[in-house]
This record gives sequence, C-alpha cells and structure tokens, in this order.
Amino acid sequence: MTVSISADALRELIAIVGDGRYVQLKVDDRYVHGSDASVEWAEPQVVVYPGSPEEVRAVVAWAARHGLPVTPRGAGTGLSGGAVPSGGVLLVLTRLDRILDIDPQARTARVEPGVVNLELSEAAEPFGLFYAPDPSSQPACTIGGNLAENSGGPRCLAYGVTSNHVRRLMVVLADGSEVELSAAPDPLGYDLVGLFVGSEGTLGVAVEAEVRLVPRPEAIRTLSAAFPEMALAAEAVNRVLLAGVRPVALELMDRATLDAVGQAFREAVPPEVKALLIAEVAGLQEEADWAAGLCRSIFAESGALAVELAATPAERDRLWRMRKRARGALGRLAPNYYVHDITVPRHALPAVLVQVEAIGRKYGLRMATYLHAGDGNLHPNILFDAREPGVFDRVLAAGEEILGLAVEAGGTLSGEHGIGLEKRDYLGLVFAEADLEAMRKVKRAFDPAGRFNPDKALPQPGICREVRPGVKGRVPEGKPAAEVGLEG
Ligand SMILES: Cc1cc2nc3c(=O)[nH]c(=O)nc-3n(C[C@H](O)[C@H](O)[C@H](O)COP(=O)(O)OP(=O)(O)OC[C@H]3O[C@@H](n4cnc5c(N)ncnc54)[C@H](O)[C@@H]3O)c2cc1C
Repeated sequence: MTVSISADALRELIAIVGDGRYVQLKVDDRYVHGSDASVEWAEPQVVVYPGSPEEVRAVVAWAARHGLPVTPRGAGTGLSGGAVPSGGVLLVLTRLDRILDIDPQARTARVEPGVVNLELSEAAEPFGLFYAPDPSSQPACTIGGNLAENSGGPRCLAYGVTSNHVRRLMVVLADGSEVELSAAPDPLGYDLVGLFVGSEGTLGVAVEAEVRLVPRPEAIRTLSAAFPEMALAAEAVNRVLLAGVRPVALELMDRATLDAVGQAFREAVPPEVKALLIAEVAGLQEEADWAAGLCRSIFAESGALAVELAATPAERDRLWRMRKRARGALGRLAPNYYVHDITVPRHALPAVLVQVEAIGRKYGLRMATYLHAGDGNLHPNILFDAREPGVFDRVLAAGEEILGLAVEAGGTLSGEHGIGLEKRDYLGLVFAEADLEAMRKVKRAFDPAGRFNPDKALPQPGICREVRPGVKGRVPEGKPAAEVGLEG
C-alpha cells in the first residue's frame, strides 16, 4: 500500500519523535529495514524510532490521519516475515528498552517492548529468578517480538511458551488510544491477553508488558546422546516422556546441522554419529540426578552410540552453544537457507524426519534439521544458493511439501515462528474459510481500517497463494549479492 507522504506530514512526524535521526527516509535506510530473518523483503516508506509509549501513540495516530499502514518491529529476528513492512510506516520499538520494575515477591517484571529477552533473565538473576521463554535468538530478540510471535524455545517443553508468562499488557490501538489488557490472576471477561499474544503485530502495538519470572532450579543436569540414526533418537525422546520424566529440554540435531556446528565451533563429531540429542533435566538435587540417570539408561537402551553427562558448567554451555547457534552455523554449508517450523505429534517424529529428507532428495536440495524434539517442533532448513537460476522455485515447492507433510501427520504449519507472510496463504490447509472469516472479524474489531501489519497472518478471502512483494532469496536486479543478506 503506497500513499504519498507530504513534506508537511513528515515535519509533523519529526516533531513527534523530536529528532530527525529517528525518522529515516534515505534509500539505504529503507532498504536495510525491508527484511527480517526470513527470506521476505519489502521496503517501508518511512522508518520511525519512537522513544516512549506517548510517542508510539502519536505516531500511530499520525499514520491513521495520513492513511498509512504501520508495521511494528522489534529486533527483526522474526522468521516468517512479520516485521517486513507493508509499505507505509515501519515502527521500530527498540528505543523502548527499559526494565521498569522487577518484583521478586510477586515474581514479575514490568518491561517495555524493546527489552532484549536475555537481558531480562540477566536482570532477574540476582533475585534467583529468570524469564523462561528462551528462543535461540534470545541475545537479540525483544520481548515485544516474543509477545507478538508467542515465541518458544528449548526450555518451553517444561515451562510453556510466551503466552504462559504474560500477565498484563499496555497496547496502542489503531486510532492511537491505549488500553490495558489483563490476564492476572485469571482474565475477567474475554481473555484479550491470550488474543493479543501471537497476533503478530496485526491488532496493536504492545508498549508495556508485565511478565512472570520463575525461580532458578537448585540443580540442572545436561546430557548428550549420540545416535546412528535420527529416527532412533526421536524414538528415545518418546520413551523418555512416556517413562514419566519431564525434562526441561529435549533438543535434536541431524548430521548436516552437526557438520555446520562442527565447522563453526571446531567440534569433532565422529562420522558414525547421525543425530545428537541434548536432554536437560532440573529440580531439586535428588530429582535431577534421578531424571538424568533414567534418561541415560533410556538413551543407551534406544541404541545411543554414546551418552555423556556435562560435568561442568563449561561443558553444559558448550552443548547449548552447539544447539542455540546451529542456525547461524548453517552459513558454513550454504549461502542461503529457508527455515520451516512444522509441529507434528511426537509419535510421528521418526517417520516425518525420514520423509523430510526424502523431500530434500526429490528436489535436489540439502536439508539440515534441528528440532525441539520434546514438543514435536521441527525446523527443517532448506539449504540453497540464491544465485543458482530457478533454485528458489524448487525451495518453495519443497517447502510446500513439508507443510503438507505436517498437516497429513496431524500436525500444523508453525510451532513458534508465526505465520507472517511466509505461511499466510497456506492457512487454508488447516482452517476452513468460516474459521478464517471469524479471525478476520477479530482483526476488523481491533483495526477497522486494516492498518496494522495489513498483509500478515491472514489470507485474503478466496486467495490461495499470492505473489509476494519481494523475496530476499531472489536477488533484486541491479543489487550486488552481498546487499541482500546472502550470508544468511
Ligand atoms: C538464530 C535465530 C534463532 C531463533 N530461534 C527461535 C526459537 O528458538 N524460538 C522461537 O520462537 N523463535 C525463534 N526465532 C525467531 C524470532 O527470534 C522470534 O520470533 C522473536 O520473538 C522475534 O523477536 P523480534 O524482536 O526480532 O521481533 P521482529 O522480528 O522484529 O517482529 C516479529 C513480529 O512481532 C511484531 N512486533 C514486534 N514488536 C511488537 C510490539 N511491540 N507490538 C506488537 N507487535 C510487535 C512484528 O510486527 C512482527 O510481526 C529465531 C530467530 C533466529 C534468527
């Protein structure tokens, strides 16, 4: 949606944020703000960095007066194109980065949306507390982005995803007004916090959140188990959960991912190892030791080649570095990758993992898959080189088959990365038109003019698959490869 912005209107906008540096119009600035960590790309007309909730309200009201769409943005680490602008205003919230209060008695924190996830846990540490949702992007991603995507992470197997940790929100609506949405201790009336969390910036802009903090466990035990096959490792995951152990995390990496992290972090992984499972258990000392012992014997009985318990915090950190930095390490294998985020019932994991590999072979594309195995949430990464003519069509076709596979297995299109632009036109695979129309009505109730993130999360009625405005993986003509994020 492109609406011209007059010089007078721009002067108004600069007056709102008080400094020309926070209103960016130059081609380069608009270009670099056109993407997140997905393969999507589209340019905003103007990039604005407000510095307070009052400024957010005023910018949103300004956009409404001038008929411009607004795309909220945190750190831009999203993987489904949610923060890719729909023309208009890109509203970057990273200057709202204050931790307003930590209440150790109530175990809550009040934060602005631009607070970085990991920094909240670090601030809570002196009180023996932490913020549980831990996306692997946690050194960069913001609480605002986490709320909008209902983000998860390895530890969410035990602690639940973002929606389980939000008590109250302050939200700026499409007309620039601000409302309080409360879920604590139990929502009175409609659960609007539940509705807002996961709404991908389509209903409003979160300008403050009260979130839960949880106590740090007395003991943590982290194990790694090397398997000769992914399917065996996936079966071991099922056995652990059926045995009554409730691990904090059960994370699995395939051989291609191990090749990447091996190269990136100089880890020597023996050639016979085709899957590495990381299991973490926590609780009271005795409880953690018992659970670790049980996991160890289940892994051995399930065909593990080796099982090791991290003996020191440094060894534990080493294992988590391999897993949490796996995505970045994939750049060692290919200049581009397209990550999927399907979720399937856990019992279907062994078969689905084999089928994902088969889809890669069918399209001549290498796959690298890591997964929050305990949640049945897989991330198959399709590796490619965007400079190869026609490759992106094969990448999209393989991706479509992966989505179909998830639905056929009784699963769904996204576990944690959201729908955004990437999965929007596939929602019909899991929802009937009447279901989608009910969601459109919710959107219209919050945002009658369709100004917030207008093209995201919901398909237009009757449209199966739309050509999107731009895709980072397709190098725009005249742009050198390095300018379109080919380093992944
Ligand atoms: C290396 C890597 C690892 C990752 N690992 C995980 C993982 O383990 N688990 C996981 O769930 N995700 C993961 N992600 C995806 C991503 O980090 C999360 O979706 C994260 O929550 C996005 O936060 P952000 O601040 O970058 O948001 P952005 O990408 O900037 O925005 C994401 C969405 O939130 C909306 N938004 C942002 N701020 C607000 C606000 N204040 N109000 C309303 N809407 C807003 C945007 O419009 C957009 O729709 C990973 C990404 C990378 C690059």
